[in-house]
Amino acid sequence: AKDQGRDGYCFFESSMNANAHEQLQLLQDLRHALERNELVLYYQPKVLAPNGQTTGAEALLRWQHPQRGLLAPDQFLPLAEKTGLIVPIGQWVINEACAQMRRWRVLGREDWSVAVNLSASQFAHSGLVETVRSALQRHALEPRNLTLEVTESTAMRDADTSLAILDRLAEMGVSISIDDFGTGYSSLLYLKRLPATELKIDRGFIRELEAGSDDAAIVAAIIALGRTLNLKVIAEGVETTPQRSFLTELGCDSLQGYLLGRPMPAQQLTDSFVTPQPA
Ligand code: C2E
Ligand code: CA
Ligand code: CA
Ligand code: CA
Repeated sequence: AKDQGRDGYCFFESSMNANAHEQLQLLQDLRHALERNELVLYYQPKVLAPNGQTTGAEALLRWQHPQRGLLAPDQFLPLAEKTGLIVPIGQWVINEACAQMRRWRVLGREDWSVAVNLSASQFAHSGLVETVRSALQRHALEPRNLTLEVTESTAMRDADTSLAILDRLAEMGVSISIDDFGTGYSSLLYLKRLPATELKIDRGFIRELEAGSDDAAIVAAIIALGRTLNLKVIAEGVETTPQRSFLTELGCDSLQGYLLGRPMPAQQLTDSFVTPQPA
């Protein structure tokens, strides 16, 4: 029994080591990902519910890893957060998304807004406002061409600092969207203080959305709340036509999800949603 225990322990330890070693390797790779141009932004369209018109796109980070292939954010962002690498990566995302928004402007989409996700550590780092300001300037964008998506919990970690930074960004004219709305625990009072222009209903409420369900009641309440606070409401994770119809009926302003378009490389989004198709 004692031997078995020791074997069990050894097995556990060596698998821990394997995992730790893998994380360390991934971290080494991540340190070089920026300079090696391995990070890419995919874009997912945001469309108006009543008429399907595209109003912009959300930038979603991917890592084209030389051995592991295309990695999604959950496979490397936690590591980037833990190590502070999220700061230079986040700066790159803002700049890259603004560069892309410039190309869309040149193609006639002056009124689009490109949305960038922010994580909490980017607020802790004081350079955020400057990063945004200089990216807008460098790519000759109007502030409304940029939307920053923050979750309630992101904004609540060190709430005073985050609010002050968000206020400065909103004063510049940048749009603020409250992401994953309904999953956080912020009070309505705090919500009222956020200088937001948009509420994004979390996919969790959309997934099994159908008339008469609890989710339908919650979604209707969020849409009513948005009206009261003068915020646009967008639903994420819209995958089916019934979800789309129901959300439109409820008065949801905009939609995002696989039904409208998956996250895709910039060129593909341009081909499908910007450049007119040849007759
Ligand atoms: P999020 O901001 O809530 O982004 C929405 C996620 O849902 C994306 O996953 C998107 O690909 C996925 N999605 C979109 N439509 C549908 C749908 O119809 N059905 C389903 N099942 N999923 C859908 P993704 O790209 O893996 O991103 C995951 C999270 O990583 C994002 O969640 C965001 O929090 C974070 N993230 C992505 N890019 C960045 C970035 O540049 N910076 C930071 N700080 N975070 C990022
Ligand atoms: Ca988002
Ligand atoms: Ca979201
Ligand atoms: Ca979500």
